[in-house]
Amino acid sequence: MLNKSKEAFGQAKKVIPGGVDSPVRSFAGVGGTPPFISHGAGAYMFDIDGNRYVDFVQSWGPLVFGHCDEDIQDEVIKAVKRGLSFGAPTTIETQLAKEIVDMFEFIDKVRFVSSGTEAVMSAIRLARGVTNRDNIVKFDGCYHGHSDSLLVSAGSGMATFGTPSSPGVPTDLVKHTILSEYNNIAKLEECFANNADIACIVVEPIAGNMGLVPASSEFLRACRELCDRHGAMLIFDEVMSGFRASLYGACGLYDTTPDIITWGKVIGAGMPVGAFASSEKIMNQLSPDGPIYQAGTLSGNPVAMSAGLKSLQKLKADKTIYDRLNQKAKKLVQGLKNMADKYDVPLQVATRGSMFGFFFCDVVPTNMAQVGKCDFDRFNIFFNHMLTHGYYFACSQYETGFINTVISDDDIDGCIATSKEVFALMGR
Ligand SMILES: *Cc1c(COP(=O)(O)O)cnc(C)c1O
Repeated sequence: MLNKSKEAFGQAKKVIPGGVDSPVRSFAGVGGTPPFISHGAGAYMFDIDGNRYVDFVQSWGPLVFGHCDEDIQDEVIKAVKRGLSFGAPTTIETQLAKEIVDMFEFIDKVRFVSSGTEAVMSAIRLARGVTNRDNIVKFDGCYHGHSDSLLVSAGSGMATFGTPSSPGVPTDLVKHTILSEYNNIAKLEECFANNADIACIVVEPIAGNMGLVPASSEFLRACRELCDRHGAMLIFDEVMSGFRASLYGACGLYDTTPDIITWGKVIGAGMPVGAFASSEKIMNQLSPDGPIYQAGTLSGNPVAMSAGLKSLQKLKADKTIYDRLNQKAKKLVQGLKNMADKYDVPLQVATRGSMFGFFFCDVVPTNMAQVGKCDFDRFNIFFNHMLTHGYYFACSQYETGFINTVISDDDIDGCIATSKEVFALMGR
């Protein structure tokens, strides 16, 4: 029962557009009322009506260790007691930067911001500033936050709500965003043949905002080659895949290296943090060392940094963590697929580290157009059945699911068993 959530949603709608501060939370795509959350504990979330959910969303990715991890909470509480914000440098920013710089050969410096949107927006400005060019290439179905230049055929909530672009984004700005198809090398080559002045390609190397659609190795290599040949920069947007797909994100799973990388989500472990990073030569172009302006009153906030630092230290300390997370992710989606097979329901599944995705369709989608052809009615039936029975999946087929370290085999087995009824119902 969601009586209290229904009441809370009604109250929220009166004072907050759609009752939510980020559109996908409204459950508009799947119908119904979003549960209003009272608290979390490990693998579970509890709503204000007292329902318990096994949480496969994990705040849309940030929480690798589940809710209320004690080590992270302790550091946050200590930081809170020292003061919430100073607007002056603190050593914890350097500590987190060092932890990151040490991990990647191509990275010398990192700058922290407060969201993934800000990270990608700043990375694009850096690429444009360094190359002295305006045009950028982005791919249909990739989401890079809600900044003006990037809100063109984006995935996630944009896909769910079927808005190709947004009112309020000037056409004059968007004309510098060249759209291409994910995993399509020929189309990307055409982009470069037909457009001079390309500053950068921005790509989710493991797309997670049109469901989970990983790039092919060949495609990322082609991105690299074309950038090199035309003097453009390659930006990997790893806001979702960073520290999720592997410790090194997509960079740990592919042989292609970007010029600039962006992070968010896991890097703040549930606190608002984003970051972008590159070589010394490129990062030195940023203000105050260089002319390219970028700033933030709460950037590198000490409380947020303390959560990110502890989380990253824990991730680095446990060498088997990503294998274990991936085994759990595979167990879940393979179990769902086996159950779907039994009732002749076509289901395509994928995992990358702790990320998982599933599509109701006959062939594995490799781009946004194919994802768009999946069966959304079936997804909605599946989603609502699972939610009612205590399994909280992302409320759109355009989203990715996340496994945490504290979810148990029983939770996963229970989820697979619960899917039996709904697959039986939709079997052909
Ligand atoms: C979530 C996400 C963003 C935007 O991050 P916010 O923190 O929501 O601003 C950007 N890029 C990718 C790939 C994302 O998944």
